[in-house]
Amino acid sequence: MSERGGPTVLIAVGDELLSGHTLDTNSNLLAKALFAAGHPVRRVEVVGDDPDAIIAAVRRAQTEAGVSRIVVSGGIGPTPDDRTFGAVARALDRPLELNPVAFAHIETLVRRMHEAGWVDTDTVSEANRRSALVPAGSTVLPNRRGMAPGLAIELGERTLFVLPGIPREFSTMVEEELIPHYFQDGAKPHVTEVRYTSVPEAELAGPLGTLEGEFPDVIAGSYPHIERRELVIRLRGLNEDRVAAAAARLRELRSDEEPPGGIERR
Ligand code: AMP
Ligand code: MG
Repeated sequence: MSERGGPTVLIAVGDELLSGHTLDTNSNLLAKALFAAGHPVRRVEVVGDDPDAIIAAVRRAQTEAGVSRIVVSGGIGPTPDDRTFGAVARALDRPLELNPVAFAHIETLVRRMHEAGWVDTDTVSEANRRSALVPAGSTVLPNRRGMAPGLAIELGERTLFVLPGIPREFSTMVEEELIPHYFQDGAKPHVTEVRYTSVPEAELAGPLGTLEGEFPDVIAGSYPHIERRELVIRLRGLNEDRVAAAAARLRELRSDEEPPGGIERR
């Protein structure tokens, strides 16, 4: 499938992701959204809250051929274990600077929290101020669900984003900022599925091999769901008619009469 604008690399930051305490749902959400937008994700890398690991991951993505966008999630809160902004600044060789837009947002939230009686003072603490210290040259992406700002940093041919780890802040920023403003130039894929029941996966090897030869522009994936004895063959490509033709051809190659009673199709 052609990748207009180049693929994206995701870097999910958090010790809790590596220890298994938290499932990396942000990467899944973003992969889904970017696939639908026609910007397939090339790679997801998970690293701990360790500046050296974050720097290495950012540099890997930055120097990787073809990559046009890099999205980093997590580690931008007020506590000392939130080290992403500092690490990204070092990876890009830029200083950290207080961003007035981000700081004004934090001030507004702290004032509201004070008015609501949740905090004792309306002064921005040093801890909260850290979230406004961002790599020089960043554009702040508004976070209407939380305090820490998202960032877009233009790096010549690439754009690097830094997003909050909190899933509802992350997903809102993806839906309201990234997709509409930064991922509109993708070539959207067409997807269709052919489903079989009680068919061993290996029996599709031949038909899928034939399909590969006849439809080099359609990518087929085989996904068995053992627990419900279902085999999903997912076909995707940029041309809707070709994807539909490939699905029809697959049904021809493996009809639902074989083995008796075993196959279902959709
Ligand atoms: P952080 O931005 O790293 O301080 O994380 C804030 C909250 O979001 C924590 O509860 C994290 O466990 C959670 N979180 C961070 N990254 C992810 C992720 N990739 N998927 C799901 N939850 C996450
Ligand atoms: Mg964290």
